[in-house]
Amino acid sequence: MSIRLRLTLLYSAILALTLIAFSIVLYVTLSRVLYNGVEQTLIGEAQRISANAKYDPRTHKIVIPASKVTAPDTLVQLRTAEGSMVDPETDKSPNLRMLGFDLPLDAEGLAAVQNGERWEQTIVVDGERLRVNSDLYRTASGTELILQVARPLTEPDRTLQQLSRLLIIGTGVATLIAFGVGWALAGAALKPIDRITHTAHDIGEERDFGRRVQYNGPADEIGRLATTFNAMLSALQGAFKQEAQALQAQRRFVADASHELRTPLTTIRGNIGLLQRTPPISAEDREAVLSDMAEESDRMSRLVNDLLVLARADAGRELHSEPVAIKPLIEDACRNARLLAPERTIHCLNELDVFVQGDHDALKQVLLILLDNALKFTPPSGRLTLTTALHENKVAITVQDTGIGISAQALPHIFERFYRGDTSRTGAGAGLGLAIAKTLVEGQHGSISVQSEPGQGSAFTIRLPRATIGTPLTIPERKQSVPVS
Ligand code: ADP
Repeated sequence: MSIRLRLTLLYSAILALTLIAFSIVLYVTLSRVLYNGVEQTLIGEAQRISANAKYDPRTHKIVIPASKVTAPDTLVQLRTAEGSMVDPETDKSPNLRMLGFDLPLDAEGLAAVQNGERWEQTIVVDGERLRVNSDLYRTASGTELILQVARPLTEPDRTLQQLSRLLIIGTGVATLIAFGVGWALAGAALKPIDRITHTAHDIGEERDFGRRVQYNGPADEIGRLATTFNAMLSALQGAFKQEAQALQAQRRFVADASHELRTPLTTIRGNIGLLQRTPPISAEDREAVLSDMAEESDRMSRLVNDLLVLARADAGRELHSEPVAIKPLIEDACRNARLLAPERTIHCLNELDVFVQGDHDALKQVLLILLDNALKFTPPSGRLTLTTALHENKVAITVQDTGIGISAQALPHIFERFYRGDTSRTGAGAGLGLAIAKTLVEGQHGSISVQSEPGQGSAFTIRLPRATIGTPLTIPERKQSVPVS
């Protein structure tokens, strides 16, 4: 059963019950008033008659003066104290005589009257109800007689019958109207819920999270439901989009990685073919082929290493978060860079004796990536500078070069995976270095940015949160050396 029908039935039932209760109270009250009225009239008439009736003890005749029976439809009858009628002609009022029947008094009633109680009973004559009161009355001469006074109940019966008909029809009609109006109102109130249901259904069918529920009403329960539903759709849309983008990026990543791995593998495969040749190639060619294979293997292992770092980051692997002393870190990275390019001028201006919150190995890898790039894209006459600075609660480490710089078109893409600038100038890199640097820095709640002028040089700056504790924990000895791409 729908909520609409349930609600409508519920308040129709409440209304019907209220009307029925009201009708019963009204009917009972009115019937009491009406029948009491008849009762009071009968008692009044009986008193008047008993005060005016004439009784002749010799003839046992009682004369009831007609003028004393005030209401024309009041019927009067007298009986002896034993309950018998003496003379029907005189013992009955003229209107009772005309009707031609006696007012009854059964044995039980007679006994009650003889005991001095008033006996009340209702009889039916020709389909009409009559109220009969029988009471003992004493004449002036001391004779006891039974006075019976009756009145038809036709009027109150009819009134009550009409009232009950009116109440039944009224209650029925009012309930029906309430049901109709309630049905319409409940329908109007629940319409937005219907719309939400349809929208949800359509979204489920079409997987279109761009749709929204149209609702222009007040911010009541339904309004809040619509708003919440729309907010949930927005969140779903965002999540879905993110998911699709991530999937797309993942596919691109796998395709690019396969592509990158294919080149060294093809070279190695070709070289193996050369080595298997008969007659064998010359010792000089063999030497060249083997060195080529070694170089390709190196390239492949660097690439696989890079891919592993990114894959681990994508899988949500947490980096260490410990206080790392900046000074030894920078010195270490500079020493590594100088070992890589002993002929180059590398300035390491590191005066800052602070700690950052991060992962020592990851930070060193980032610095080596930046230094390696700076060396790659700066002519031998150029200069490399590594500086540190403290801004509020962030430590900034900048690797600056006076190299070829990065064009404005390339700048927004250099942190993308497998992005390489002009390959004729970039050499054999796979385009993963900066992507790894960005992933590692962001994994330590830091940021990386670049400023570059083509022909002037570039400056890469990483910003990391300063460690809150003063002294660093001992930097653990790292067994693995960090490869430089
Ligand atoms: P790779 O590992 O191949 O060097 P990166 O992700 O480190 O790739 O760099 C991506 C691209 O960014 C490079 O191909 C190059 O075009 C540009 N780039 C990075 N660092 C510098 C720099 N210091 N000077 C000029 N160009 C740079």
